Amino acid sequence: MPMTDYTSWGRVHRPRQTVCPPRWRTDPLPACAADSLLPYGRGRSYGDCCLNDGGGLLPTSALEHFIAFDEQAGLLRCEAGLTLGDILEVTVPRGWFLPVTPGTRHVTVGGAIANDVHGKNHHADGTFGRHVTRLELLRSDGQRIVCGPDENPEWFAATVGGLGLTGLITWAEFRLKPIASRAIEQQQIRFASLSEYRDIAAESDAEWTYTVAWVDCLSRGRELGRGVLFRGRHAQAGTRIGKPDRSKLAVPFELPVSLVNGASIRLFNRLYYATHPTRVQSREVDYGPFFYPLDNIAHWNRLYGRRGLYQFQCAIPEAEFDAMHELFERIAQSGQGSMLAVLKRFGDVPSPGLLSFPRPGLTLALDFANRGERTRRLLGELEDVVAQAGGALYPAKDALMRPETFQQAYPRWRELAEHRDPAFSSSLWRRVTGETA
Ligand SMILES: Cc1cc2nc3c(=O)[nH]c(=O)nc-3n(C[C@H](O)[C@H](O)[C@H](O)COP(=O)(O)OP(=O)(O)OC[C@H]3O[C@@H](n4cnc5c(N)ncnc54)[C@H](O)[C@@H]3O)c2cc1C
Repeated sequence: MPMTDYTSWGRVHRPRQTVCPPRWRTDPLPACAADSLLPYGRGRSYGDCCLNDGGGLLPTSALEHFIAFDEQAGLLRCEAGLTLGDILEVTVPRGWFLPVTPGTRHVTVGGAIANDVHGKNHHADGTFGRHVTRLELLRSDGQRIVCGPDENPEWFAATVGGLGLTGLITWAEFRLKPIASRAIEQQQIRFASLSEYRDIAAESDAEWTYTVAWVDCLSRGRELGRGVLFRGRHAQAGTRIGKPDRSKLAVPFELPVSLVNGASIRLFNRLYYATHPTRVQSREVDYGPFFYPLDNIAHWNRLYGRRGLYQFQCAIPEAEFDAMHELFERIAQSGQGSMLAVLKRFGDVPSPGLLSFPRPGLTLALDFANRGERTRRLLGELEDVVAQAGGALYPAKDALMRPETFQQAYPRWRELAEHRDPAFSSSLWRRVTGETA
């Protein structure tokens, strides 16, 4: 197989990898002339957890079959390369929805498990891994391990949030949630500051299944952390909405320079905030634009130009609210940041993985156009604030975190190391653990 440039969503890295796609879930792992292997879903991770520079990649796009669907119980078994979007196409008309979904539907089941992804309902339902009942792991020695919360639980805990390092997940089984309509009852509420956000978020989490906020990351002073909170729940049967919007915009090619800069962000943020009135706005919307607003612009990451983007996502204990203030201060001062800064409260539903990222507190996610050293310096400063507050950075989004930050935030990483398939590795793993083989 040729060397090729499979990359991640941030497009900062241009790794050289040998690509060895598995064909069938019943086959052994493909022969691959590389020192190490790593499963690859759809590369929707932003940094280097899905990359294996100098090694081999196992893209799972051929493992895209449904295996069994119990329509009474809402239990689905499918191959790990199937995307969440493909699943929704089949299950929504039958009255079933994903238990947890990230902000794009273009991720695979294997990727959702390996990063133990979270969604807007984390405060109510926890992470994706909590809803997985069983999965099969194929190891490089040919062994197949079926595991779940009650079956080989140590392998399950290592594989959920295990960053693809315990072996190839060939199939998984998980519970869906019943819905009466494809519509979402949605409300939008503007808030004028970070403290106001905290009150509205706590009140909303008590009553709404889904909550998330957009924040104007460049506002300062008394307006620091102002934004708009979105909350939603699945609508009742018979709720009427317009036809689902199937139109697709696309950024056709990589732009030579980033269109995302201080001036464009400031302008967008002012307009976006101003166009949301202070009173609560309610309406019914299709689940697509509610969960996946960015999916309507294919390849939107190309807007960041050839140098790509970094994403920063942290979790900070709620008691360390001042640290969140400091993060916003530093981002606003730097003039960097993005139109899409997202704030959410994680709940206290325990995550099942040894290395799952979500933990009780606040999570902030935002993109930064890659402006070289300037951006890396800012991200280093933000990392310091997070580490001092006892928080964590999300490996699915990260490209720069230092080993000490990772090892402090994920103290069980050595247990994952013990379960790692000796033939598997990744660029992220080598960077944050120093392990080379
Ligand atoms: C627009 C956007 C919005 C997002 N929103 C969220 C969000 O709200 N919440 C959230 O948690 N994440 C979010 N993400 C991140 C994304 O959900 C995760 O990075 C996810 O893991 C990507 O899945 P993927 O299939 O593309 O896997 P990849 O990115 O290709 O791989 C991710 C990891 O999974 C491993 N892996 C993939 N397939 C397998 C397999 N079959 N067996 C074993 N390991 C495997 C890889 O080795 C790698 O370590 C978002 C990403 C984007 C681009």
